[in-house]
Amino acid sequence: MWRVVGHTGAVRLLDHSIESDRLAHAYLITGPPHVGKTTLAMDLAAAVNCERTSPPCGECPQCLHVWGSRHADLQLMGVAEEEGRKAIGIDAIREAAHQAHLNPFEGKSRVIIIEGAEHLSEEAANALLKLLEEPPPHLLLLLLTASPDLILPTIHSRCQRIDLHPLPIEQVAEALTTRWEVPDEEAHDLAKLSNGCIGWATEAWQDSSIMETRDRRLERLTDTVAAGLEERFAYAAELAGLMPQQRTAMHETLNLWAEWWRDLLVAKATAEDGNDTTSPDDGLSKGALLAAIREILRTQELLDMNINPRLAMESLMLSLPQIEGVAAQQ
Ligand SMILES: [Zn+2]
Repeated sequence: MWRVVGHTGAVRLLDHSIESDRLAHAYLITGPPHVGKTTLAMDLAAAVNCERTSPPCGECPQCLHVWGSRHADLQLMGVAEEEGRKAIGIDAIREAAHQAHLNPFEGKSRVIIIEGAEHLSEEAANALLKLLEEPPPHLLLLLLTASPDLILPTIHSRCQRIDLHPLPIEQVAEALTTRWEVPDEEAHDLAKLSNGCIGWATEAWQDSSIMETRDRRLERLTDTVAAGLEERFAYAAELAGLMPQQRTAMHETLNLWAEWWRDLLVAKATAEDGNDTTSPDDGLSKGALLAAIREILRTQELLDMNINPRLAMESLMLSLPQIEGVAAQQ
């Protein structure tokens, strides 16, 4: 049984490829953080080594060892800090390439999973390219990334791509209740906040500091929205300081911002439809709110293209409308 929640299209494709013995040597699995990329990759690693007829069975020693990250032929590689920068360096890839050429020791296939593949250094990417050009027959290489545009085209073109998209909120809520035994109400709230990325919801359920971080960021956001330029630029500089090492924190913050403005837009539209006089009287048109959301999304794109983060953030701060006396929305 595949453990990954949802993504039925991807699972069906992989199931079919395994059955017909037409699995590719390398896959590029893309999707936003916490959407299920690693779980899908681990499921696939179990499936290619599983001893039973409908892999991954989740019960044989092969499946259990893969899922427990203690299978001798599985290498799960992540991003390390190197001189203050996040990177996957040449040494790690050389070592992985060396292992890849050895025969499988415990199972049928060697599987290398590289998380955050956009952080491959140029040297490392070139070493990986050699492996992709002449892959050993028993090797399965899985590259995971939230930013496929940052993957070298030469690598990209040698991988079969699988795109994972955020899950419907109801599906996340249902999985939280049935698999993680989260009470209904909390499951619904977490699912809504997760934006369809179930890994975020399960982590937030198990680790209260995640929600605390979110609340703190929201508070800073509402302060910023009410603040003048001086304060805004100070916060822009602070956020820009997160780059490039804490790219994920930066993106999470901007996602939260986009979500906050979207909520404001929805509240306004709903109020207008129902002539609800309790609508937030912030003096902003729907067009202005939409423009703010667009600016935030554009800033994220610029950051992905490695534009100077301070300039990108200052430009965003200049364009966001000022609202006096806003309250944090949940
Ligand atoms: Zn199995």
